[in-house]
Amino acid sequence: MSEGPKWMQCPVCKETLYWKVPVEALKDVKRFPAAIVVKHHDHYLIIYLDSHLQLADTEIVSAYVESQTEK
Ligand SMILES: [Zn+2]
Repeated sequence: MSEGPKWMQCPVCKETLYWKVPVEALKDVKRFPAAIVVKHHDHYLIIYLDSHLQLADTEIVSAYVESQTEK
């Protein structure tokens, strides 16, 4: 298990970013890869971690919208 900060080049702005694996939240994950949403400045990434908490894949989020529940 690799729980330290993860470093990577942001695929959007090319800056180096780091983020911490939310280990507590991942304890209940039953299926991998697990998706983590990472915010960097005004953009978002989806990072997929395998069961060893290693980076499996990265996606750039094209848009972020808030949803609401219909009443
Ligand atoms: Zn960025």
